[in-house]
Amino acid sequence: MKTPVPDYLQHVLSACDANQKGQLANYIPELAQANPNRLALALATIDGTIYAAGDADVEFTIQSMSKPFAYALAIQTHGLQAVLEKVGVEPSGEAFNQISLDAEHAIPKNPMINSGAITTHSLLPYKKTVSRAEHLRRFLSELAGRELKFDEQVYASEVATAFRNRSIGYMLRTVGVLDQDPEDIVDGYIRQCAILVTVKDLARIASVFANGGVDARTGKRVLERSIVRQVLSVMMSCGMYDAAGDWLTSVGIPAKSGVAGGILGILPAQVGIAVFSPKLDTHGNSVRGVEIFERLSQDMGLHLMEGTPSAQTIVQSRYVVGECIVYELRGVLQFTESEMLLRILQDEAKGKAPILLDLTHLTLIHDVGARMLFEGVKRLKEDGHVLKVVDTERILSDVQIKGHKRCVVDQPLAQVLASYTASP
Ligand code: GLN
Repeated sequence: MKTPVPDYLQHVLSACDANQKGQLANYIPELAQANPNRLALALATIDGTIYAAGDADVEFTIQSMSKPFAYALAIQTHGLQAVLEKVGVEPSGEAFNQISLDAEHAIPKNPMINSGAITTHSLLPYKKTVSRAEHLRRFLSELAGRELKFDEQVYASEVATAFRNRSIGYMLRTVGVLDQDPEDIVDGYIRQCAILVTVKDLARIASVFANGGVDARTGKRVLERSIVRQVLSVMMSCGMYDAAGDWLTSVGIPAKSGVAGGILGILPAQVGIAVFSPKLDTHGNSVRGVEIFERLSQDMGLHLMEGTPSAQTIVQSRYVVGECIVYELRGVLQFTESEMLLRILQDEAKGKAPILLDLTHLTLIHDVGARMLFEGVKRLKEDGHVLKVVDTERILSDVQIKGHKRCVVDQPLAQVLASYTASP
């Protein structure tokens, strides 16, 4: 059997192929020469599997899709607070290249519009021998799993015509948001936008963010979870510029578009998605890209606000062996499931019977899940029970176990049971 996922992606592309609406980005001469018929789609799961269809190996410039990653790298370099002092997180409701500042704080409204992205660029790591754009290229290459290059032609073409971005740079320098030479910073920002990617690269990069900052292929944590959360939040509210509200309601996936025709989406804990089709709508978002995302979101139920229904079966079974009461847990232990678990455990009568909470079939425990689990353990002990948390797969982290080591065992359940039921 062959998985139908690639066929489905191909089907979505074919359905959108006929849509010829939109215009090429004409304010960057080199982009105005792009082949308007290109169409590509890639989807990467959080374990690193990539499915693709159409022109999935064709490279194009990343443009504004570099902005969330520059933001991530800036936060990693300076810490969130320092970055927030220079760039806000409010949706602007304005065009991406609006020459504007937040009226109250006199800083760019958010890092997804050009004024915020030019400021964010100035916060990238920098050495005399390694430019800010080069730092970002290396960072994205690591996430993409291959060496990415700059498109020197697109870069030169945009530099030669970047009057608006220069105006933004000088405006930022005037108000003191930038303290370096605005020419240098705008030049570097344009270079950052000229990194070449394919939809496969973008989907793979996106999947690392979907996976909470861990690259599933290498097992390496590339970014702190809190940075990923910050970046996704800003993408959700500001990533599609003045079409953000439309996008949030009809697609509901944190996303970022670029004027070369790419859109990348990151659905937490599920997938990274990237599309490429060069013709743009009036907001500067790819026309067919938006259509494809709308279809994917609808067909595959990817809207963030649909949420994931909580596993109603957190307690897979409760049974008694000898004098031991066993609770077999299954699924993911977050707040909702923990609440359910504790509600079930509160029906347990007071007594001396050993209670074994078997975590073997849990796939994930969030910190709140661990805290609530151990609070339940404490309260059951107060009722007189002997408690053991059976963590054969060692799913609890060291931090989660801290202070509770004595009630956690990592032997298989059968062994733990045997130690209670063996006759003296
Ligand atoms: N380099 C482009 C610019 O600054 C990026 C804009 C975009 O992709 N929306 O104008």
